[in-house]
Amino acid sequence: MIPLFEHYPTLAQKLPFVSLGQFPTPVEKLNRLGRELGLEQLYIKRDDKSGTPYGGNKVRKLEFLMGQALKSHVKEILTFGCAGSNHALATAVYAHRIGIRSISMLLPQPNALYVRHNLLFSYHCGAELHQQRTMISLIIATVHQLLRHCLKYGRFPQIIPPGGSNALGGIGFVNAAFELKAQIENGEIPEPDRIYVALGSMSTAVGLMLGLKVLNLKSRVIPVRIVNRKIAHRKNVHRLFKKSNALLHSLDPCFPLCRLTRHDVQINHHFFGQQYALFTEKGMQAVALMQKFADLKLEGTYTGKTFAALIQDARTQDLKNKVILFWNTYNSRDFSKIIAHLNYRKLPPGLHSYFTDPVQPLDQILTQ
Ligand SMILES: *Cc1c(COP(=O)(O)O)cnc(C)c1O
Repeated sequence: MIPLFEHYPTLAQKLPFVSLGQFPTPVEKLNRLGRELGLEQLYIKRDDKSGTPYGGNKVRKLEFLMGQALKSHVKEILTFGCAGSNHALATAVYAHRIGIRSISMLLPQPNALYVRHNLLFSYHCGAELHQQRTMISLIIATVHQLLRHCLKYGRFPQIIPPGGSNALGGIGFVNAAFELKAQIENGEIPEPDRIYVALGSMSTAVGLMLGLKVLNLKSRVIPVRIVNRKIAHRKNVHRLFKKSNALLHSLDPCFPLCRLTRHDVQINHHFFGQQYALFTEKGMQAVALMQKFADLKLEGTYTGKTFAALIQDARTQDLKNKVILFWNTYNSRDFSKIIAHLNYRKLPPGLHSYFTDPVQPLDQILTQ
């Protein structure tokens, strides 16, 4: 029984849910890294270990989204992302697990080694991969897929939005806040003053904010924006928060309606860089520091940029005695053996250039 359902049993009866991951994910104290940064109480939440063979933050959302797919007996799931999308991959992995076909509608992104790995693993899981050059052609291709599916099965496939971020997916992170509360009560971590987390399609940060509010925890979420400002901004955070809250309240009136204040939403916009998935010097320095002092692998698109924000705050603000939690959203399960035998030429030709073109310059630090 997941912690959210223990607190709100009515939700257990009303919400679709399928167990896919391994929870609770550990919280660990990072002593050496903390000393390096002048933080006496630096912790990490290991959502990188949330599942096998693939962890990361999307597993929590997919437990609800796949639950819905099972409940409505769909044959296929269609989702969106950029070529190297961790979300598209997680969807492919866990759709395969529950016997549903997945279709990934993809847009181009800057090249990196992880893009290659994610594409190969998605292919291995039987995902149908479509990349389009522009948003317009993606929409046209998506309509085509929907009609094809309709003709074949007489109904639409389940559509999962980019990043798995809708009211339902976000409940995975409302539950994550309940999970953290239990870890605080068990003495695994003091109540955090701040929680640093990447802000992409937003339901990770927003789900946490909602869960923390309901539980009356004082921890403040510091969302570090790593996507375009048009996608992730204050208004959209409030909108998603309200939608998730309304959904939970409508299913179980005991779940309170909460208010998010201006003070609650302080997005850090300074580490995005030039473009989504284009690595930054600061982000890669953060990756290197985490590797050196904690022996953990971050990456350049999300977690490096987010950890860079934490580092900057540690150096410029008085956080010495504060409890700081870094929420690791990136998968750390090694799937290199699974994809080792795969040849990229089996992928749709439009994706071959990721394997023949060089990776972006800053990725080379990681590949050395
Ligand atoms: C998707 C993703 C995020 C962002 O989470 P959102 O819920 O989309 O904001 C952060 N880190 C990693 C590694 C991700 O794959």
